[in-house]
Amino acid sequence: MKIFVVNAGSSSLKYQLIDMENEQVLCKGLCERIGVSGEITHKAADGREYVAETAMPTHSEAFEAVVYALTKSDAKVIDSFDEVSAIGHRIVQGGSIYNGSCLITPEVLKDIDELGALAPLHNPANLLGVKACIKTFGEEIPQVAVFDTSFHQTMPAKAYMFALPYKYFEEYQVRKYGAHGTSHHFVSDRVAALEGKDKKDIKIITCHLGNGCSITAIKDGVCLDTSMGFTPLDGFMMGTRTGTLDPSALTFIAEKENLSPADINRICNKESGVLGVSGVSNDNRDVAEAAANGNERAQLAIDMQRYQIIKFVGSYIAAMNGVDAIVFTGGIGENDAKLRETVCESLTYLGLEIDKEKNAVRGKEIKISTDNSKVNVYIIPTNEELAIARDTLRIISK
Ligand code: AMP
Repeated sequence: MKIFVVNAGSSSLKYQLIDMENEQVLCKGLCERIGVSGEITHKAADGREYVAETAMPTHSEAFEAVVYALTKSDAKVIDSFDEVSAIGHRIVQGGSIYNGSCLITPEVLKDIDELGALAPLHNPANLLGVKACIKTFGEEIPQVAVFDTSFHQTMPAKAYMFALPYKYFEEYQVRKYGAHGTSHHFVSDRVAALEGKDKKDIKIITCHLGNGCSITAIKDGVCLDTSMGFTPLDGFMMGTRTGTLDPSALTFIAEKENLSPADINRICNKESGVLGVSGVSNDNRDVAEAAANGNERAQLAIDMQRYQIIKFVGSYIAAMNGVDAIVFTGGIGENDAKLRETVCESLTYLGLEIDKEKNAVRGKEIKISTDNSKVNVYIIPTNEELAIARDTLRIISK
């Protein structure tokens, strides 16, 4: 059985085709510049590649290009899209409505649309992807929504409420929703399997550190708390996002520079974080290189990010009254040995000890703590597409 996984952005579209018999990726690809011009890069698992520029005024034309790549191009992997059993969509915001994945119906489409108010950068784009799929592939093929927020729906009210007047929660559903749930779910399931234990019996902290970053505390097998908030801006410093800061710093700057809410959103989401502090880049590799060459602001950005990660991990250890396993994932978490070492050095009071040789790896699933360590530390490469495909299969098999 083959499942097609879609992650639609406003002007881009990422996809994978996964054979669920062996969970192997048959191909993956990316359509870019949708609505502007159009470009597809498609890679089959055996290394064949198809790259083309083709007009993509909307996501529908992008899917038509994908069908050509999948079934007719030099890098084709199937004869017809009829071989695909279902489509799984990454949907960023499921609000308080969805605590799990579900089959997409007209009601679900309406909810995704309405929840766009809570995720204006993501849900409208995700919705475009679903609608274009329905147009291109018809209504017969089952389509499943896998929400980034649903794993975090188990948070208790004391964790998800903001200390604002209660009416904003009642009137506008302003609360913490979290994000990256599919990744935190995937790596925490994996760590339980590696530990050979029931997930309910271990306290886990999962650190998803990429261009976007979040940390989640998992107790009794479910999410207790997570660092991202009402939107994926909250938490700690990321590539271009601020993470948590005193809101009055923003009202102060807005008054000084006569900025609108949209300006503040742009500054906090796109111009801040590692990029904003370093002035170099949002990419940790560039910033580390600049720091190694003596750039003090680059070093400051690195120090700030690591310090903030340490504080979140520490606060979640307190919230759970302990931790059994810590997981690093995402582009930075999987590749940056120095960051992992720095975070773990601040936890030696717990009896946590890492093996520096084992830690000197990139992107590989491995336990990096020593046999004597009181807390087990893992690198687990995340695989959100596989998690979406598994959930899609589970839903259509019901
Ligand atoms: P992601 O959003 O998960 O793709 O992660 C992107 C981030 O991972 C960027 O900040 C990259 O700089 C970072 N990254 C990727 N490879 C490395 C590496 N070898 N060392 C440090 N950071 C890395």
